[in-house]
Amino acid sequence: MSGIRGKVIALTGASSGIGEAAATYLAERGACLVLGARRQDRLNAVVERITAQGGLAVGVVVDVTRRDDLKQLTETALDRFGRLDVLVSNAGTMAVSSFDELRQDDWDSMVSTHITGLLNGIGAALPVFRQQRSGQFVNIASTAAYVVKSPQTVYAATKTAVKVLTEGLRQESGPDLRVTLVSPGFTDTEGVGKGAPEPAAAALARKRDEIAMPPSAIASAIGYAIEQPDGIDVSEIVARPTVQA
Ligand code: NDP
Repeated sequence: MSGIRGKVIALTGASSGIGEAAATYLAERGACLVLGARRQDRLNAVVERITAQGGLAVGVVVDVTRRDDLKQLTETALDRFGRLDVLVSNAGTMAVSSFDELRQDDWDSMVSTHITGLLNGIGAALPVFRQQRSGQFVNIASTAAYVVKSPQTVYAATKTAVKVLTEGLRQESGPDLRVTLVSPGFTDTEGVGKGAPEPAAAALARKRDEIAMPPSAIASAIGYAIEQPDGIDVSEIVARPTVQA
C-alpha cells in the first residue's frame, strides 16, 4: 500500500511539538491515527481538533518507558482499525546539562525515554509487523546524533543510540518491513531545553527563537518516508535550518 490515506499509524509524543504537527499532517492526508503521550488533557485536545476537522484519531495515555503502555498502543490500533502500518517513535525529552551538575534523574529520563522507549515500541510492533508481513518503523533522532555539542552530551548519546538501533533494525528487517530514521535540527517546539537547568535552558530557547524551523518541516519529512511505495525504504532524513551549523 503506498501513500498515507488509510494507513494505520501509531505515534508517540503526540501531545505537542513535532508529534502534534505530524499527527495533523497525517490526519489531513487520511491516516487512521493512534496517538500516545502522558498528558491526557493535551492529547485529548489534539484528538478533538483532528476529529473536528474530519480526521480519524484515538488517544491512548502512554508512557514509553513502560513496556505495557506500548503494547496498549499497538493493541488499540489492532482493535480499532484491524492492523498497524507504521509506528512513529517520537517521544523525547531535552533536559540537557553539564556533567558537573549531576542531574542524574535527567540522564535516566533521557536514557529511558529515548532508548528503552524505542525498544519498547520495537517490542510491541515488530511481532505485529512480522505477522502482517508489512510495517514501518519511523524513529526520531536528532542532528545531535551526528555531532556532540556540550552540554548536550547525554542527549546526544541517547539520540546516537536511536540512530544505531534504527540501522541495526533496518539490517534485520528483511524485504517486508521499512525502517526510517528522521533527524531534526532546531525545531520550534516547547520541548527545546524543557526541564534543563539555567543557563542551558535559556541558551537553547534563545537559539530556538533565532533559528528554529517550524515543526511542519519534520511532519512533512515523516510523511515523505511513509508515503513511498512498499518496496521503497527511505532509510534516513536529516533536516535542519540552513543557518544551523
Ligand atoms: P515536545 O516537548 O513538544 O514533544 C515531546 C513529546 O514527547 C510530547 O508529546 C511529550 O508528551 C512526549 N513524551 C515525553 N516523554 C514521554 C514519555 N516518557 N512517554 C510518552 N510520551 C513522552 O518536543 P519536540 O516536539 O521538540 O520533540 C519531539 C522529538 O523530536 C523528541 O524525540 C526530540 O528529542 C526530537 N527532536 C527535537 C528537536 C527540536 O529542536 N525541537 C531537535 C531534534 C530532535 P507528554 O509530556 O504529554 O508525555
